[in-house]
Amino acid sequence: ATPTSIMVGTGKAAESGILFKGGEHLERTHQLNTIVLDKTGTITKGKPEVTNFTADDETLQLLASAEKGSEHPLAEAIVAYAMEMEIRLIEVDNFSAIPGQGIEALIAGNSIIVGNRNLMNDHQVEIGEAEQELMKFELAGKTAMLIAINGLYKGTVAVADTIKETAPEAIRQLKEQGLEVVMLTGDNERTGQAIAKQVGIDSVIAQVLPKEKADKVKEIQSQGKKVAMVGDGINDAPALATADIGIAIGTGTEVAIEAADVTILGGELLLIPKAIKISHETIKNIR
Ligand code: ADP
Ligand code: MG
Repeated sequence: ATPTSIMVGTGKAAESGILFKGGEHLERTHQLNTIVLDKTGTITKGKPEVTNFTADDETLQLLASAEKGSEHPLAEAIVAYAMEMEIRLIEVDNFSAIPGQGIEALIAGNSIIVGNRNLMNDHQVEIGEAEQELMKFELAGKTAMLIAINGLYKGTVAVADTIKETAPEAIRQLKEQGLEVVMLTGDNERTGQAIAKQVGIDSVIAQVLPKEKADKVKEIQSQGKKVAMVGDGINDAPALATADIGIAIGTGTEVAIEAADVTILGGELLLIPKAIKISHETIKNIR
């Protein structure tokens, strides 16, 4: 590889907002055959909004007060919704986040848990008929969270995140370049499949706990694949570091950018096939 052509390649990439940490990463990008994309904030805009809430104002008050303690985009959506409904937040005595599952809190003597089915199972909360509604939300690509107060199921809050406009075109180009495209998400299978369908991804790995994301990347690598992982969150950092090429996208948390080999400025997914194209052109010039 001539250092000059590599420099030209990384320079050209940089002009488009694709920052390679070093020339070797450009060369390695050329060898990729699989691209794994995180869902929230990578394929979707990461700005979810509440679309359905099936309980009363009292529950909303406890729900939003509890979620105020979480930094998750889902939590932000719920708090914003409560503000719109002019719900006053109250003091929380105890809060904890359960990665990949939800949250629990103690508020004015009430214990509240909010999250997915597994979280309800772990707390022996019966959700009964709500399962039907939950499935309906999920088939529509929404993330539905169950709410229980003092051990009793109270209702569901559903949140929708929109896909980035250019996501379907970016995925199409990646496939055309011969890459296998996979979506990785902490969300449930049905929601994941619904979003994947909207953007043209056939392969979904769902309900992956944050600490398991890197293991999933390793699993794919062990099948002899050269894997790029694209993500934005703190959660994604270990997977970005594990992948043959880690790509941090969007405003990107510091941690993700640090763990990545490539940073895409501004969250534009079309810059990923562009990066691949530049790597191919560069390597062709070397040979
Ligand atoms: P993603 O990979 O989509 O960012 P996460 O691993 O962060 O997903 O979360 C997985 C699931 O855990 C969510 O779909 C949701 O059901 C639940 N969850 C996470 N954070 C919260 C929260 N603050 N409140 C309620 N549920 C949550
Ligand atoms: Mg994410």
